Amino acid sequence: MANRRTFDLDEYIERIQNSPCFICEMIAGRLAGNQVIHQDHSTIIFLNKYPVLYGYVLVAPVRHREHVTGDFTVEEYLSLQRMVYQTAEAVRTTVPAERVYILSLGSQQGNRHVHWHIAPLPHGVPFKGQQLEALRVENGILEISEHEMEDLAGRIRQHLDLTS
Ligand SMILES: [Zn+2]
Repeated sequence: MANRRTFDLDEYIERIQNSPCFICEMIAGRLAGNQVIHQDHSTIIFLNKYPVLYGYVLVAPVRHREHVTGDFTVEEYLSLQRMVYQTAEAVRTTVPAERVYILSLGSQQGNRHVHWHIAPLPHGVPFKGQQLEALRVENGILEISEHEMEDLAGRIRQHLDLTS
């Protein structure tokens, strides 16, 4: 398993609150360094650039939407959740996981573009280190080389069955 490095949370907050929406910037091709697993007219699936768990993927609508349910019709929401399901299954078959966590967080003070976290908890983590504790960036983020991130994205992409 990869080593961890300290995550500068204050620097991150400063940046995220003073920059244009990072998901819209990534979709517009103005943001380098993200590993996109899949993008179509409605949805983008990409690796979390600051992973606390190995195989941590984010799923977001291409269009800038903010409210987890309020900015979608029920049909749009369910269509996106189908992609979340398909992505979670691709992650689960790529990375050994005791459980796969799925959640949507975000903030109106930064990270406004709604997105879903798909975070695979590896086997063997003690109970106290699971759930929200496993997602804390304060515990450090995994040091994964660009090459390995690209490889990981490719393997998840291979397992992504968008017909299911
Ligand atoms: Zn956006």
